[in-house]
Amino acid sequence: MVERTRYCPRTTSSNAQNVRAIFNGQHTAKLNIPKIIDDYNYSMNGVDISDQYGSYYGTQLTVFRTWMPLFFWILDTTVVNAYRIHKVLGGEESRKGFRIKLAWGLIHEGEKNRASQRKRTRQHNNNSESATPKKIYVTKAQTELSRVRLSPGQHLPVPIDGRPNCTLCCFKATVLKDESYKIKTPTGWKCGLCDVPLCLFATRNCFHEYHSDNSI
Ligand SMILES: [Zn+2]
Ligand SMILES: [Zn+2]
Repeated sequence: MVERTRYCPRTTSSNAQNVRAIFNGQHTAKLNIPKIIDDYNYSMNGVDISDQYGSYYGTQLTVFRTWMPLFFWILDTTVVNAYRIHKVLGGEESRKGFRIKLAWGLIHEGEKNRASQRKRTRQHNNNSESATPKKIYVTKAQTELSRVRLSPGQHLPVPIDGRPNCTLCCFKATVLKDESYKIKTPTGWKCGLCDVPLCLFATRNCFHEYHSDNSI
């Protein structure tokens, strides 16, 4: 934190009610400002380009916890800076396209971390019960389907051994309680990108449904 003299904001500014209370009717007040905000204020030379860029696709939500607006401000500033670097390096994405790619990138990263965590748990379980044969896929009832399935990219069917059960059939039978689907529906196919076993037959194409239905 650094101490700075700040002017009382107008009544029309965002969050005015809370902020004006701190000034206690005075025109100015000495306030402790987070260092990152202070750096920003003193290096933007009054032309608030970053705020301007950020405001088009800002992430700021109406929230009541006091640290949350700061988090969203840092998030927006980081995204704007990343986009500026992208342009300086010769990138040609639009602002919106860049944000969409960034969001999918973060979802993929999160999914990778979750997958490696699941793998570690599985290895741990295999080690502690070495008598049971190793399974490559463990179809567990999932409470929700991964959003990675809707991301752009090469979602292509890959043949697999071991006849694991279709993830979508299992999801429909257990979570959606749809009695026309069975928990155990063996398949010889998976999505190469999602790494998820799915039915791929003329009569039942879970592969297509899994990647196109965003309502489930
Ligand atoms: Zn299926
Ligand atoms: Zn896929």
